[in-house]
Amino acid sequence: ALLMVFALLLSMAACGGSSDNASSDSSDEAVMIGVSMPTQSLQRWNQDGSNMKAKLEEAGYKVDLQYAGDNDIPTQVSQIENMITEGCKVLVIAAIDGSSLTEVLKQAKEQDIPVIAYDRLIMNSDAVSYYATFDNFQVGVMQGQYIETALDLKNAKGPFNVELFTGDPADNNATFFFGGAMSILKPYIDSGVVVVPSGQTTQAQVSTQDWKTENAQSRMENLVTSNSYSPKGKKLDAVCCSNDSTAMGVVNALTSVGYTKDNMPIITGQDCDKPNVKSMVAGLQSMSVFKDTRTLADKVVGMVDSIVKGSEPEINDTKTYDNGTGVIPSYLCAPVICTVDNYKEILIDSGYYKEADIQ
Ligand code: BGC
Repeated sequence: ALLMVFALLLSMAACGGSSDNASSDSSDEAVMIGVSMPTQSLQRWNQDGSNMKAKLEEAGYKVDLQYAGDNDIPTQVSQIENMITEGCKVLVIAAIDGSSLTEVLKQAKEQDIPVIAYDRLIMNSDAVSYYATFDNFQVGVMQGQYIETALDLKNAKGPFNVELFTGDPADNNATFFFGGAMSILKPYIDSGVVVVPSGQTTQAQVSTQDWKTENAQSRMENLVTSNSYSPKGKKLDAVCCSNDSTAMGVVNALTSVGYTKDNMPIITGQDCDKPNVKSMVAGLQSMSVFKDTRTLADKVVGMVDSIVKGSEPEINDTKTYDNGTGVIPSYLCAPVICTVDNYKEILIDSGYYKEADIQ
């Protein structure tokens, strides 16, 4: 990372000198930062993108913000190529597929353009300088612990029927979310207190292509049919979902066969997307994990600024995230549990949403 920073400073000096303000080099041209986001179809990434753009512009940078259609990998690759060609000095990338950027990032490395992996780790590329995210394992732990407490697994004999849903297999985060949740639930599965009636307990068996609501919904519909779950028949006690888009699919499948707020299983989520907060208020989804995208954007803008100004970015983890080429120095933000009991405080009072957004 130090070498890259040094090379970047040299190249900036060659173009007319660096400065302590992003926009005040001798040609008065602002330094351009490329921000590549995976999709506009999910609320959180729109928020991430617009937060990043606003905060980088406030700090004096020019921003090329691109969304790769709806999770289209070739679009993301060509958008990043363009960012490199048009002279971006730092790239901030939330990858669709953690392993599909190896080739395009070789060009970034050749041109000494530092890359920050945003939220999702970019795998198998030594062009990645830093990673900024939330503590993804802890997100899964919070989901597992919520179920543990809600069903009182420590004291109860069970068996409780639980099904599992995680995210896209190409998203490195999914492995951490699922791993965190299973670190809590697996001992109960092993001891028989928790039963997974479908028998689907590996990450591959419970993954959701593209994190799509409709894919989670159709898998839940199949599970309902094949296991005869119903409000009056076989009991389903909890569904551990890694995020809100999958939780929404599960809620849709269950409400369509007659589940209501009075008999809905415990359902976990993540992101506090507006439709899911409404679902919590309506008594359908039980919890979500709040990841304040404003905090992540602040941290990444700080990283960009340090890189451009030649100092070391703030990091707080140097052991967790190995992308196949070595451990990437990371900053992990803290996730927070959100339920109907505290959503007002953490979402409304903090200014993240307006009350009207979730009515
Ligand atoms: C993010 C989650 C998000 C999911 C689907 C993950 O990489 O960390 O916040 O729900 O992708 O977009």
